[in-house]
Amino acid sequence: MHMFDVAAIKQQFPIFDHHPDLVYLDNAATTQKPRAVLDAERFYYEHHNANVHRGAHRLAVAATDAFEGARATVARFINAATSDEIIFTRGTTEAINLIANTFGESLLAGDEIIVSTLEHHANIVPWQMLAQRTGVIVRQLNITPDGEIDMEHLHELLQSSRARLLAISHASNAIGSIQDIQSICDLSHQKQCKVLVDGAQAIAHLPVDVQALGCDFYVFSGHKAYGPTGIGVAYIEQSLLRDLPPWQGGGEMIDVVSFAGTTYAAAPQRLEAGTPAIAQAVGLGAALDWLATLDRSALLQHETQLHHQLKQGLESIEGIKIHGHAKNTVSLSSMTFAGAHPYDVAQFLDNKGIAVRVGHHCAQPLILTMGIQGTLRASLAIYNTQHDVALLLSTLAETLDLL
Ligand code: PMP
Repeated sequence: MHMFDVAAIKQQFPIFDHHPDLVYLDNAATTQKPRAVLDAERFYYEHHNANVHRGAHRLAVAATDAFEGARATVARFINAATSDEIIFTRGTTEAINLIANTFGESLLAGDEIIVSTLEHHANIVPWQMLAQRTGVIVRQLNITPDGEIDMEHLHELLQSSRARLLAISHASNAIGSIQDIQSICDLSHQKQCKVLVDGAQAIAHLPVDVQALGCDFYVFSGHKAYGPTGIGVAYIEQSLLRDLPPWQGGGEMIDVVSFAGTTYAAAPQRLEAGTPAIAQAVGLGAALDWLATLDRSALLQHETQLHHQLKQGLESIEGIKIHGHAKNTVSLSSMTFAGAHPYDVAQFLDNKGIAVRVGHHCAQPLILTMGIQGTLRASLAIYNTQHDVALLLSTLAETLDLL
């Protein structure tokens, strides 16, 4: 037995004080926030609030220290070589748009970007928009029926001498499959193809070491890792970062501005125009510091055990079809029902205080490939209990009997 005290963890999340019976299984959409994060944001506003990087007074120094401290925390958490490799963004979506608008703009018409079928729209649409602007070509990477990357197809696509970037999720938000990023990076780099990893669904669950993974870009959102909304991260490996042009212009990102011509600051400031989301960055730093105090392997074991309970239970209920059968997954299950629409089932669950998500999960190409219209997704997190999973299972069985 592992020593993970889920009751003690759950007590740290005030949402459950206000909704004591809530069974929150929509964690892949966003996680709840621990008191450590809420307190850190409040403390920042009450004690340090000022603008960063340019003030000549003590609060400005304190705010800058807090903001840059959060950057250092993120760097430590994902083992970046330096804090400068951490660019703050609004979230995963903005991080990928940043990379498309900087690294992407350096590609030539006819260069190829390989995008897996599993991807969230945030890791598809920016590449399509880039293709329209510049003539780069988006190549779709197939998946296996189990929902894993088709490695043979990846080998094939990498034979092209024009393959410049592979955009791939660490874990799928729709079916949970975890990709072997290290092997994928090795393979891609043999062909001089860079790799962008969408870590939105991995960061709260898996240990992430960007240097061990060997990726060139790693992006994620704070709000899916117990942090605030409005803040996310683009990790950009330093040799690439040096040459990236700015993408948004304004304050903070310049060196000297004149009408004769403007010069730019070094990264990360060059890629962070305007006043940043300071309090949110501080909140993200607090979330990652809080996560780092926990036994991450016990946490993963807790989630894996709950997911095992969930999968076994789902298999024993007649009329449920589970989608995605990858060997390695994060702790979520996506399902459809023989005689009921996922939306109707979700309504019954909501009546019992069980929160899940239904729909295409912003992964329409994947849902289409699976030949369905959408799924009901139950996604687990650190504060979920065996009772949560048992209640979901019994309510699903009752609901399917009724419908
Ligand atoms: N990629 C994946 C895999 C996701 O799960 C999500 C959020 N559902 C995103 C990208 C987009 O994240 P955000 O909306 O926070 O920018």
